[in-house]
Amino acid sequence: MPRKKSRTQRKAEFLKAAEAMYECMEDWYDAHPDASFEEIEEEMRRQRRGLMGGALETLIVGRDSGFDLPPPKCPKCGPPLVFEGYRRWTVKGLEGDSQLERAYYTCPGCGDQGFSPSGPEAAAAE
Ligand SMILES: [Zn+2]
Repeated sequence: MPRKKSRTQRKAEFLKAAEAMYECMEDWYDAHPDASFEEIEEEMRRQRRGLMGGALETLIVGRDSGFDLPPPKCPKCGPPLVFEGYRRWTVKGLEGDSQLERAYYTCPGCGDQGFSPSGPEAAAAE
């Protein structure tokens, strides 16, 4: 269930996406041989948003999505929290849109629920 990836895995994922974006630009230019520099740049900027958004996802979610073993304990009443799954949300960033996800837990004692550990991304989701 943990979504953590090694630094090498994250880098490989990014490089694969960058390579796919470049191939996309080659195909686009083949299909638009008379495009001006501005038109090529505009298409590149459009594709860059997708690449950057994906890179942020890889960097943030691949590093830590808040899933812990053993599970964290309820800060209110103490028992280990129950992992409910991952919740996803979209962050519209300056460079691109990213689908972030965070481990979501509930307490079997008091029914309290939340993300763990509550980080800045978790706060953005609430
Ligand atoms: Zn509790």
